[in-house]
Amino acid sequence: MTDTADVIVIGAGVQGASLAFHLASRGARVVVVERSVSGAGATGRSSGLVRVYYDLLAEAKLAWVSYQWFGDWDARVGGACGFMRTGFLWIEPASLADRLRANSASHRALGVDSRVVGPAEIRDIAPALEVGEEIAAYEPESGYADPSMTASSFLAAARDRGARLMAGTEVTSIPVSGGRVTGIRSSRGDVDAPVVVDAAGAWARGVAALAGLDIPVDVWRHDTGYLGLTDAVARPIPVVIDNSRGMYFRPEGSDLLLVGLEDGSEMGGSPDRETVTANPDFRATAAERLVQRVPGLAESTFRSAHAGQDGLTPDQRAILGQAGPDGFYLDCGHSGTGFKTAPAVGLGMAELILDGAATSVDISPFDPGRFAENRPLVGEHGEELIWR
Ligand SMILES: Cc1cc2nc3c(=O)[nH]c(=O)nc-3n(C[C@H](O)[C@H](O)[C@H](O)COP(=O)(O)OP(=O)(O)OC[C@H]3O[C@@H](n4cnc5c(N)ncnc54)[C@H](O)[C@@H]3O)c2cc1C
Repeated sequence: MTDTADVIVIGAGVQGASLAFHLASRGARVVVVERSVSGAGATGRSSGLVRVYYDLLAEAKLAWVSYQWFGDWDARVGGACGFMRTGFLWIEPASLADRLRANSASHRALGVDSRVVGPAEIRDIAPALEVGEEIAAYEPESGYADPSMTASSFLAAARDRGARLMAGTEVTSIPVSGGRVTGIRSSRGDVDAPVVVDAAGAWARGVAALAGLDIPVDVWRHDTGYLGLTDAVARPIPVVIDNSRGMYFRPEGSDLLLVGLEDGSEMGGSPDRETVTANPDFRATAAERLVQRVPGLAESTFRSAHAGQDGLTPDQRAILGQAGPDGFYLDCGHSGTGFKTAPAVGLGMAELILDGAATSVDISPFDPGRFAENRPLVGEHGEELIWR
């Protein structure tokens, strides 16, 4: 007998897990199909930054709604997401002060605790940092969380509400009849459903092709590494996106520092490439920039470095909504920033699927049609794409 569901979610990363949780909380019968295990994709390699600062207000709104989930996890979801409230600095050269001030003001208008700080205050907040003529947006309540833990507690809560997870199961085709999806075929049998969601991260383009749809989602490859922290580095260390020097870093517990670069990411290639190794020059480039910003790191060494891959769109923003055959939805193209928004995206996508429109959050700016219609999303006060 063929299995049936109301909604099939392809991919059990943090996005698929969040969507499954929100759908199951509304009483939908959900099956999540995952070719490997949760966390096998971008989620398991994510740096886990949780902040609201974005150039695009629609994204800041999703991050702000999601932030409230991270801060109240046990009551809303149960279990743990590993949220650490370290504070967050977005550092820019003084020449970009107008844009930074405008963005921070728009975040304050949402209710976010965000303010603009100059060099002296940056040094007070983060005494290890060497700061020149720079300014930062400061969010004292932001920090980082554990992406794998977040996904698995969303999945556990979804299963408590009746969702089923088919792990180790690859979706191999998405049948369409009369212009509408009818379910999936997989390495472990068929499931019939009137709704199928592509939450397949770096594999999203291939999954959409199974439904006859071509989507502009490329593979984005990004290296991160961990350095040991010695007493030469003054604490506390907040989460820092250092746009002046093209990198970000954050503490991992008390003894490690996680670093990633904004440039040098590879665009394109196979989503199935190995991710155990970082680019050969990653460690040297990251170390050089880090020591300029945090001189106390001069004696630190890398403990490890590796890569991760996500789906990247032309405007480096997610694709959320219905596209292709009726009943086929996209929750993908999260472009290296889709961890912190997962709680709100899942909420909005569940409303779109079950009610025909998202009402708790606005996901309409991320509509799949914008690329064909040449309407890329651009920050209200100007921007440069974060991944270069
Ligand atoms: C190195 C790195 C650092 C990042 N840092 C941050 C950060 O600090 N903050 C932030 O907000 N975001 C960050 N991101 C982005 C964020 O992690 C991703 O946007 C997010 O995890 C995407 O989740 P997902 O569920 O869409 O995809 P994934 O986690 O990739 O999950 C997709 C799943 O689909 C499965 N799948 C694929 N094809 C099939 C198939 N045919 N059948 C069944 N299953 C299939 C895969 O096995 C995979 O588990 C980072 C990403 C990377 C790679």
